[in-house]
Amino acid sequence: MSTQHRAYVWILACLLQIALFPARAPRARAASVPADLTRPAALDDWRQRRLCVDGSTANEILDAAIPLLAEHDRGLFVLHWPDADAAGHRSGWMSNEYGDACRQMDGALERLIHLAGNDRTMFVLLADHGGGGAKYNDHESDHPADLTIPLVLWGAGVSPTWLNDASILDVPPTVLAALGVTPPDCFEGRILSEALDAGATAAAAVA
Ligand SMILES: [Zn+2]
Repeated sequence: MSTQHRAYVWILACLLQIALFPARAPRARAASVPADLTRPAALDDWRQRRLCVDGSTANEILDAAIPLLAEHDRGLFVLHWPDADAAGHRSGWMSNEYGDACRQMDGALERLIHLAGNDRTMFVLLADHGGGGAKYNDHESDHPADLTIPLVLWGAGVSPTWLNDASILDVPPTVLAALGVTPPDCFEGRILSEALDAGATAAAAVA
């Protein structure tokens, strides 16, 4: 998993999976998305070839995904790590247990970065919601704490900057741009071009 021609895009949430397959709720926590999504049978292949794994923590999911990562050496990988959300519901957002869960995820992320081990990998780190706004252990409100998420792009094709007016909806078109794919018109978000290297939107930055 170390040649420059191998490419990985990692998503630390199920957002993109939801965006690509809006009619289907994600049933796995780590998945390798087929490169050619326009083929009619692409999703059937994806299921039949068991390109999904599951687990209850970030480290369990990463452990289960390692054989997949070795077998499929390029493409888009989606990892949904539930540790922080589960701790937030149990003990509250920003509680000690929540902090411990975040540290576990941080350790798993370090493992993931070492596994990728090349300069053609872009990492996209985000959550699909915040928490602890209107209710200390929930996130179903319009409170800013429930609606504000982290969004970090790092690695191949990324030009360091602060993101202004960025939205979770901007992630799918940005990832497609990095893969050299033109986002469909129906996507509501924009390409976060200010965070991509010059030319990254015209040619695949990571593929
Ligand atoms: Zn939740």
